[in-house]
Amino acid sequence: PIYKASDSRYEAGMQYVRCGKSGVRLPAISLGLWHNFGGVNNFENSLAMAHYAFDHGVVHFDLANNYGPPYGSAEETFGLMMKKSFLPYRDEMFISSKAGYDMWEGPYGNWGSRKYLMASLDQSLRRMNLDYVDLFYSHRYDPETPLDETLQALVDIVRQGKALYVGISRWPLEAADYAFKYLKERDVPCLIYQGRYSILDREVATSGILDKACDAGVGFIGFSPLAQGLLTDRYLNGIPSDSRMAVGNHLKQDVLSEKMLATIKTLNTIAGQRGEALSDMALAWILADKRVTSVIIGASSVPQLATNLKALSSAPFTQEELEMIDAACR
Ligand code: NDP
Repeated sequence: PIYKASDSRYEAGMQYVRCGKSGVRLPAISLGLWHNFGGVNNFENSLAMAHYAFDHGVVHFDLANNYGPPYGSAEETFGLMMKKSFLPYRDEMFISSKAGYDMWEGPYGNWGSRKYLMASLDQSLRRMNLDYVDLFYSHRYDPETPLDETLQALVDIVRQGKALYVGISRWPLEAADYAFKYLKERDVPCLIYQGRYSILDREVATSGILDKACDAGVGFIGFSPLAQGLLTDRYLNGIPSDSRMAVGNHLKQDVLSEKMLATIKTLNTIAGQRGEALSDMALAWILADKRVTSVIIGASSVPQLATNLKALSSAPFTQEELEMIDAACR
């Protein structure tokens, strides 16, 4: 069956938020393909999630070279989905990829050299069946490669037409500040900073990254807003056998300490009093931060996605609720 996108995809309640001082607006909720889109996963389920997302206005899909497993396979899955479903909609989609972590063996398959970034993006484009990505990131700061080399590679990637915009992810404050200036001076302003942000992890707020990006006219997109599933009902009563904590090795079981469980339960109670799921409160909490352009969620099923999109109609927080949330995290 040939996919036809829902006619009401732009009337499903999605909000589109201006990304820093750019021409781009991003959906407040974006979909990440880190988990559940790899070669090891069920393709039909991945495809159903992508369809559901796009049908509800989630037009931004976030990838990286090594998402899978195995490495590269999430981009291959995405490439297959482009061919099967999304090519007619390419201009309605905002697709990002990244390079920065281990991807292939040898000295040129990791970190921040021009050699690695250029080759990696070419590979990503082939896997995804795309001529260009909308956004290409340096996935992490490389303390050993001169910043200018990494940043100039980003500039040149835009000049070559292989990416329309560039961004940085997980760069420390001082290096990020340098990057924003370097890129701006070369007329390839940094579109967005990608960093981890959730009720449970506020480092981007305390470190000054959020303010810095905001002041520089750079957008901010938060990853793992549900703390990989901790900020949902997933682990309230044990560790389900199909959960990320049980299956993968990115969410360790020792994170779920008694203290953490108590925190999650308290947060769940607060969400209940607001009449919503914990996941929705967790997403709404980030989106209430005016410095945030979008959050990138992950999902392992269509019902999870459906639940999470309800966060768009969450009630504003009262001061009392915000204080209760802070107290639960202390
Ligand atoms: P989340 O914090 O949103 O965690 C997603 C997981 O939470 C799902 O896979 C699912 O886990 C669980 N979940 C989601 N919704 C629900 C729900 N309604 N009810 C119950 N459980 C739910 O984000 P991720 O950690 O997946 O990261 C999102 C994206 O951010 C990535 O795909 C990637 O694009 C990006 N990212 C970027 C990084 C970077 O370095 N720049 C690093 C990490 C992520 P389960 O499988 O158990 O069902």
